[in-house]
Amino acid sequence: MEEIRCGSCAKLLARGTAELLEIKCPRCGTLNHVRVANPPSERPRASDSTRDVHGQDRWGTPPPQLGR
Ligand SMILES: [Zn+2]
Repeated sequence: MEEIRCGSCAKLLARGTAELLEIKCPRCGTLNHVRVANPPSERPRASDSTRDVHGQDRWGTPPPQLGR
């Protein structure tokens, strides 16, 4: 079981597992965003396909037919 602690004062806020959790620390008032990373058994291919994109055509070139 995982312990979810405040990122500011390290107070124990909750116990258990959460994929995505937003919890406010009652002690210092910090709003903590807890995100548990996915297990490494996820497909490692996902990041590989993003590499295929050249990365220059995405936002660098404005649409050519604007105002003409
Ligand atoms: Zn705190």
